[in-house]
Formats: sequence, structure tokens, C-alpha cells
Amino acid sequence: MSNVPTAKNAPSENSPRDFIRGIIDEDLATGRYTQVHTRFPPEPNGYLHIGHAKSICLNFGVAKEYGGKCNLRFDDTNPTKEDTEYVDSIRADVHWLGFDWEDREFYASDYFGKLYDYAVQLIEKGKAYVDELSAEQIREYRGTLTEPGKNSPWRDRPIEESLDLFRRMKEGEFSDGQYVLRAKIDMAASNVIMRDPTLYRIRHAHHHRTGDAWCIYPMYDFAHCLSDSIEGISHSLCTLEFENNRELYDWLLIELGTYRPTQTEFARLNINYTILSKRKLIQLVTEKHVSGWDDPRMPTICGLRRKGYPPEALRDFCARVGISRAAGTTVEYPMLEFCVREALNKTSPRVMAVLEPVKVVIENYPEGQVEWFDMPYYPAEAGDPPAGYEGPLTRKVPFSRELFIERDDFREDAPKKFFRLAPGKEVRLRYAYYITCTGVTKDADGNISEIRCTYDPESRGGGTPDGRKVKGTLHWVEANHAVPAEVRLYEHLFNKENPDDYPEGGSFLDNLNPDSLRVVTASCEPALADYPVGHMMQFERLGYFRMDEDSRPGAPVCNRTATLKDTWAKIEKKTEA
Ligand code: ATP
Ligand code: MG
Repeated sequence: MSNVPTAKNAPSENSPRDFIRGIIDEDLATGRYTQVHTRFPPEPNGYLHIGHAKSICLNFGVAKEYGGKCNLRFDDTNPTKEDTEYVDSIRADVHWLGFDWEDREFYASDYFGKLYDYAVQLIEKGKAYVDELSAEQIREYRGTLTEPGKNSPWRDRPIEESLDLFRRMKEGEFSDGQYVLRAKIDMAASNVIMRDPTLYRIRHAHHHRTGDAWCIYPMYDFAHCLSDSIEGISHSLCTLEFENNRELYDWLLIELGTYRPTQTEFARLNINYTILSKRKLIQLVTEKHVSGWDDPRMPTICGLRRKGYPPEALRDFCARVGISRAAGTTVEYPMLEFCVREALNKTSPRVMAVLEPVKVVIENYPEGQVEWFDMPYYPAEAGDPPAGYEGPLTRKVPFSRELFIERDDFREDAPKKFFRLAPGKEVRLRYAYYITCTGVTKDADGNISEIRCTYDPESRGGGTPDGRKVKGTLHWVEANHAVPAEVRLYEHLFNKENPDDYPEGGSFLDNLNPDSLRVVTASCEPALADYPVGHMMQFERLGYFRMDEDSRPGAPVCNRTATLKDTWAKIEKKTEA
């Protein structure tokens, strides 16, 4: 089990408290910083996923709570992997999550000129040098965790020579890998990152923003701390894998004598049955294991959006998971679904659809007759429509002699506790009539082709004058007006809790769930034909669904967002017991 707060006792979105907010309180109290200024720094080399949402909620959330600011900064220092498609998607996703960076959209590449000047300053101070060891030699010279490294023969090259070479690197005189600029720190440092880290490399590559203006590019460690400094960031919040980089972050800013933000690390978000590594998500897309970045089985923000997860559910989830320094914990996926149901239960109108239809014929209902019922989108027992809702409160639903019900709502030899339809049993059709099963018709293979019933005309609206009780209530759809819809039923993309657990020589792809998508043709009530893309609804008794982008007029396509069944609540109960 994970050690995340339980759904009930978790802090709400309005009052998260954690060690980072503690640090900020202290920094403001001591006057170390007078204003909170954070940033969210994605590298535009992939689409954002729910792990990024945690970082977005933290950075933008903290800024808002303390009356500060949060920048969106694209960390675009690696020209070969980055693309404007990613920049655009990141912008759209952050906005959709409900956050705004106003006019503070920055790019590390905006600072290439300044960063170059800082590098020159370091060389002039004798704190950086141009090296000509190969990448492989640099690795060899670096030593190991237990053995110190050794100095490069070029380490004590005269300052003037390094300055000249660095300038010529920039002028494009050399080929990729021929020279690098390295910080001159300590090849015996216990923190391996401090063993003369590379600051600049030559890369003759086109950059999506700076074009061919540069052929040298700064390394992450050099660009990141200086970008933070240039932007006047107070609290630079990042994930735990950067803990060892903090020493270099501080060293560079101290040596350069510039304004110094504080880096603080927190644990990454992990969720079971889910992959949150950009490299692997890219692989899923390029190898077509999914239909694209926004495939509803993807943990990307755009995938979850297409599946129907509302932004408030993602924010709520991030708040409940909270911020800690404990690495390696994994959140249960049902906790995310719990937040989704919490959000959708209050807001989504109810309609009826039958996913796996079987026909019901009502023998004593007049042939050719159609009745239209006004059915509530927000039934009384489910509470009021959401605040500010101005749409229609009801829609018309037809009823006639021929209907569809769910195939597994009928059993020929039903056990005692089966409260749905069976020969001789009476059930309520939601909002309509009571019906009693009189028998079945079978096809040549012995499959049920029709369920025969009679109805009680006195039970219109769902009750009878004699007040007799029926236990079961079924959803249904009138057969002749039914709209066929392609309904996509999603399960986890992976069938292992930890998709990275595979035998030697295998890959995470071995754990792909072959049943992660099942498509059925459902029969839906007519109103469904007119709902717009993005419309959210609850199919009575079945779950939450969203009208997909693939819908066409009269031919809806619906994604299952979540079932109604709440496994997280069950986990909760088990834990309490
Ligand atoms: P890469 O391997 O490409 O660096 P990344 O997931 O770290 O992948 P970035 O674009 O560098 O991607 O991430 C932007 C910000 O989001 C960083 O501050 C990073 O720490 C944070 N972040 C990324 N993944 C998670 C996660 N699973 N949980 C919390 N924060 C995350
Ligand atoms: Mg990163």
C-alpha cells in the first residue's frame, strides 16, 4: 500500500500544508526572500503527463497562495529533441489545468546570449576551461563513486587559450564533440557531479527557436540555475533526481556572484499500472501501441482530458497526494478515479444507454404506439444541478412495445438474489413502467433473441396504486428510436502494477494489456445524437462517459471515463477495518 493520505483525511485543495510551504514561510519570515516567485520548467520534448500536473499544481499553487508569481519556462537547450508541437501542447495543457502565467512565458533559449557571457566570465575567473578529451575519455577520467577521477591534461590550459577556443567553438570552427567547456571544480569531489561538469557542447543542429544562430548549446545544469537567477525566481522546486545537482546549482551562482534562488527537491509522482517516463511515452506513440498522445489510455494531460477527466479532478488529486520527500512511493490508480468520480458525480447529467443490448417485446403494449417521457437530467435523489447550470433540465425519451435492455440484466435461471429480470419476475423500467417476464424466444443456436414481457399500465412513472414493491430497476432504450453509438471501454494500458517489472531481456511493452480497449456498439436514447464533443454524462447504472472528438452528427462516439464502482472507497474501508 502507498503511504498517501486517505481520501477522507487528505487536505483539501484549499489548505495543503507540506514541507515546501514550511520552507517558504520561514524564508519570508527571515526576509531571505520578500516575494514568492516560482517557475514550471518543462523541456518541450514530449507531452505533459499527470506527473507534470503535480509540479504545475505545486509551482502555480504556491505562487497563488503567497500572492507571488509563477513563470512558464521552456527548458529548450537540446535542439535535436525539441519541437514547437510540444511547446503548443504544453501551453494548452497548463491553461486547461486552470493556471495562467500572464506575460511570463520564457525560453532558456532567450538567454543563450547571456549564458554565453556568463561562461566567458567563468573562464576569465579560471573556473572553466575548454577540454578536448572525447566523451568516452571524459567518462573514463571521471572515476567512480568509490574512486576519485583524474584531471584532464587540458585542465590547466591558459585562460587566454580557453577564451579563444570557446569563441571559436561558438563561431562554428569545430565539429560536434571536438571540444567542450567544463567547469573547473574538483576531480576528487565525493559528489561525482562536481568533477568538472560539462557546461557547453558543440552541436551543429537547427533549433526550433534560434534557428542556426548557435552551434554550441549549454548543458541543463548550467542553463537551469542561471535561467532561474535571470528571472528572479525565489524557490526553484524540482524532483528528487536533482538533489545531487543542487551543489553545482549553488556553486555556479556563487562563482558568478549573481542572484541566487533556492533549489528544493520533492518526490516524483508514481501511479500503479502507469508509465510516467517521457521516453517510454514517446515510444508508445511512435510505435503505435496507442492511437496518439491523446489516446485516452495515456497518462498524458491531453489523454486524460479526452478520456473525460476534468481539470478540477486532477487538481484535487494532486492536492490529496501532497508533496513529500519520500521517494519511491506509488499512488493507487483508484485514488485518481475517486477524484474523477467526486467531480463528475456532482456535474454530469444522466442519460440512458445500453452497452450490450438484448431486445424486449412487451406483448400487451399497443403496436405502433410511442409515448414520450420527460426525464430529468438531474434526478432528485442525485442532488441539484451544478451551480450556474443553465441548460435544459429534462429531455424527451420514447417508449414503445420494443425496447433494449442490458443482456446481463436478464437471467433465464436466476438465483434467488437476482433482482433483475428473469422469467416470472417483475422489475421497474427506469421512469417508465413495471414489466414482468413471460418467456424468451431463441434463435437456431439457442441464444436469446427476444425477451417477452407484459407491462402494467397502472405503473406509469414507476409506481403502482397498490404500492407493490419491486426490487430491481433497469435502464433501457426504446428500440426503434435508438441511436447506435461506438462506445470505447478502457482498462489500464498495462496489466502489471509496476509496468517496469519484466524479465531480463524483456521490456515494459511486454506488460501491455491486450484488453485495454474494448469497443462496443451501444444503443442510446435519441438525445445523445445531438451532444457536442466534450459533453460529459452519466449513463445510468454504467458509469461516466464523454463525447469523443471522433463523433459525427448522428453517430456519437463515447469514451468511458470511469465506471460507477468505487474501488478506492473499498480500499479505504479495508484499511480502516
Ligand atoms: P525528462 O526525462 O525529459 O527530463 P521530465 O519528466 O523530467 O523528463 P521535464 O520536462 O524536465 O520532464 O519536467 C518538467 C518539470 O516537471 C520538472 O520540474 C520535473 O521535475 C517535473 N516532473 C516531471 N515528472 C514528474 C513526476 N512524475 N512527478 C512530479 N514532477 C514531475
Ligand atoms: Mg527533466
